[in-house]
Amino acid sequence: MNERSLPPERTGIFLLVRRGVPITLGIVGILLALIEPIGRGWYLLLSMACIAEVWPTFRTGTDYLRTRRVSIRWDGAWVRSFRPLARALGKEDAWILSFCRWNNRKVREYFQVHRARRALVLLPHCIQAANCKAGIIEDLGNCFSCGRCPAGDFLSNALSANWNCQINNRSHKVYREVRAFKPDLIVAVSCADRLLKGLTKLPEVPSYVIPLQLPHGMCVDTTFCVPHLKAAMEALVEPNREENIQPLQVDVGA
Ligand code: SF4
Repeated sequence: MNERSLPPERTGIFLLVRRGVPITLGIVGILLALIEPIGRGWYLLLSMACIAEVWPTFRTGTDYLRTRRVSIRWDGAWVRSFRPLARALGKEDAWILSFCRWNNRKVREYFQVHRARRALVLLPHCIQAANCKAGIIEDLGNCFSCGRCPAGDFLSNALSANWNCQINNRSHKVYREVRAFKPDLIVAVSCADRLLKGLTKLPEVPSYVIPLQLPHGMCVDTTFCVPHLKAAMEALVEPNREENIQPLQVDVGA
């Protein structure tokens, strides 16, 4: 990936379903109202409901951000409704990540114009190599940047650019601390399931999300694209010149 550019967000299947289903039903309702006089009112009502359902997906920029809380909850309901089907087809993660890219597209549209001033990076603790004894929990400087996990690359970027960041593995604690910090943007790295949970549990905070790669399975020696995160921070966040970086925290009690 180009170090300085964000990859395009190909929303794919989620947007196809999210818009395609109500638009198709709306057209069917109108056609039925035209050819079937009995029940015409109900068919028109169905069409209007479908238009109301699909309309929020066309909001962008400030309008999107103002209504994001409702939009994300509603989109999340669509994701959950079709999730069993996606699972049956072996496409569960692809379905969720398609929604994540749709979310990212909306967040980018706003923050590439109005940069965030109080962004927070959230990382899962499982990016640290499982057999690493470096005490990065206590002090970031304890990382030797040995190259066995993405922590070293991430930390050098975080320290040089003064990113506010946090590592944690207990979701409810993350939500509580995020609400206390009051960021105007979250840039989060996690697996598909946790990204979906985070987006729908914290709909009030715009979040740009980056999926974890799981070469060794869930929660062990996971990795992610540090240049992608760096590009997101450079594109969406105002450079932070204050010496206010927070120590990374890892909750190992869970
Ligand atoms: S990069 Fe840092 S945290 Fe990762 S394995 Fe090496 S010393 Fe440990």
